[in-house]
Amino acid sequence: MTRELFREDSYLKTSGAVVTECGDAFVRLDQTIFYPLGGGQPGDTGTFTWDGETARVVNTRYVDGDIAHVFEEGVTLPPVGTTVELEIDWERRYRHMRMHTAMHLLGSVLQYGVTGGNISAEKSRLDFDMEDAIDKETVGTALTELVAGDHSVSCRWISEEELDANPELVRTMSVQPPRGKGAIRLLDIEGIDLQPCGGTHLRSTSEVGAVRIGKVEKKGRHNRRVNIHLDD
Ligand SMILES: [Zn+2]
Repeated sequence: MTRELFREDSYLKTSGAVVTECGDAFVRLDQTIFYPLGGGQPGDTGTFTWDGETARVVNTRYVDGDIAHVFEEGVTLPPVGTTVELEIDWERRYRHMRMHTAMHLLGSVLQYGVTGGNISAEKSRLDFDMEDAIDKETVGTALTELVAGDHSVSCRWISEEELDANPELVRTMSVQPPRGKGAIRLLDIEGIDLQPCGGTHLRSTSEVGAVRIGKVEKKGRHNRRVNIHLDD
């Protein structure tokens, strides 16, 4: 299995790695900084460089349970055993991190069940299981305050045994952790949100920056879709 460096440090922009599998337009590595599509967040893009060659990674996703770096058909790929230099498209990823962290804040403002969501560098959305009307201005102001509050964001791993020993912790979580998979990764936005999440986040809410509530759409009687945008 690929060592997932992006879960240990989401700010890694470059890294070295060794090719462990070279398939038809995809490559697997011993370790990677490329985030694979999941949890509504897109897979990373970027470049591999080795022996004077460069190849563009056009997507990253799980294939057969492990991370595959995806390339255009016909591109020259590094053979197994090659040491490659990795670089992700940081500007795009950083926007995903800002959006992703903003989504957690939005979920803490609107405390309803989340039924869906999608993140992109341009706009993101969360779907809430709710019938009430949403006052865009109130929600926007609350979101801006949480960003300006500069709350620290951290992740930690916790075992199921530790969770069982701390029912209080489980009660405070906004989303219940999956069971039967061993260790669980917890996202903790100090005093604001605590929930299992495997995504890439910022170090502090202030890095979200200029965020704005976009269209609020009524998608059925029990579903409100809230779009958000970054204004820079
Ligand atoms: Zn998250």
